[in-house]
Amino acid sequence: MQDVALLGVLFAALAIGFGLGVRHRAGKRLTRPAPKAPALSKEYFVGLNYLLNEQPDEAINTFINALDVNSDTVETHIALGKLFRARGEADKAVSIHQNLLARPALSVATNDHIQLELAQDFIALGVHDRAQRLLKTLLNHTTDDTYRLSAKRLLLDLLDREREWQEALETVGPILKQQPALRCPAAHWLCELAVEEIGESSRALARKHLKKALQMDENCVRATLLYAELEMENGHYQRAIDWLERIPHQDIAHIPTMLTALKRAYERLENLAGFEAHLYRLLGQAPYTSVIVALGELVHRRDGVDSAIERTGEWLREAPSLGGLDYLIDLYLESERLNGKTSPDTRLLLLKHHTGALLEGRPRQRCRHCGFTSDHLVWQCPSCRRWGTIKPITGIEGE
Ligand SMILES: [Zn+2]
Repeated sequence: MQDVALLGVLFAALAIGFGLGVRHRAGKRLTRPAPKAPALSKEYFVGLNYLLNEQPDEAINTFINALDVNSDTVETHIALGKLFRARGEADKAVSIHQNLLARPALSVATNDHIQLELAQDFIALGVHDRAQRLLKTLLNHTTDDTYRLSAKRLLLDLLDREREWQEALETVGPILKQQPALRCPAAHWLCELAVEEIGESSRALARKHLKKALQMDENCVRATLLYAELEMENGHYQRAIDWLERIPHQDIAHIPTMLTALKRAYERLENLAGFEAHLYRLLGQAPYTSVIVALGELVHRRDGVDSAIERTGEWLREAPSLGGLDYLIDLYLESERLNGKTSPDTRLLLLKHHTGALLEGRPRQRCRHCGFTSDHLVWQCPSCRRWGTIKPITGIEGE
């Protein structure tokens, strides 16, 4: 099906190239004859015949043979190379584009265009070092802003794949004004550098990177979490809480992400009342299941299981969720046990079985861009490779 669609485009490209060639030659008819048009049209119809007989490879080869490389058809050749790349035949695309580059007297703009295509062929083939070299050469000489920007974006993508964070940051700097969307990945590259420095025990350098990350993207939750972790390592638990307090303002969806660290900080301060007050504030901002369960546990510990059942039931009425119901059933079972029931209510056990089965195997995180799901938080989506798009799943089936 894809082949047929691609061949349709190829057919159109060829027809346009052919049409342009004929028109161009027709314009010059007064001074020069156009001897090649009939030969081209013959092969063109042979190719068309192959196409109609569903022989795409033969059709493509015939179409390529039908095209001489000249200034009229160079764009058609570039398009052919692109089609091969889209078909997963990047090696053929490389030979077409390299063949074009070997032609003398190409215009500067055409030369730049072909180099850009060739770099994409190499990326498709996984030959990243050749693609990088080609893009850097192109960036050194091109004066065309469109090609420059495309080349930079491709180079940034490669540097990101190769985890060359520092070079990626140096490359992205000059285009941040034009491309503000790159601030988010750049902040993550700085976080990656910070994590490397933490691994090398260079806390001061790590802080420098994190500071820059927040200057790059003030809503970078990851940088804030890392700052909080550094404060906790130094025993500055209140400062860690101050950092974590920013996260709901940066991205409310990451409230569940920060809860473990928040709980740890308050526990170290032996300030459970402070933790409870903080959780109530979060509940007011977004009644996520993880916040309700954390509050339920605090009430359970302080006032007993029946109070926890009552309060959790109230919160869940406002924000029902499967995970919340599962927790509530646990509280009921605990209450029965404490009230001296030797065997639990079978209806409760049945309900618990159902909620457990529904929750089992459910992903906890989802990429907001491509829908990729995961059990744990990763900062770069393994599927679409975007940074910061994976977030906790909330709502009725969430968390
Ligand atoms: Zn994704």
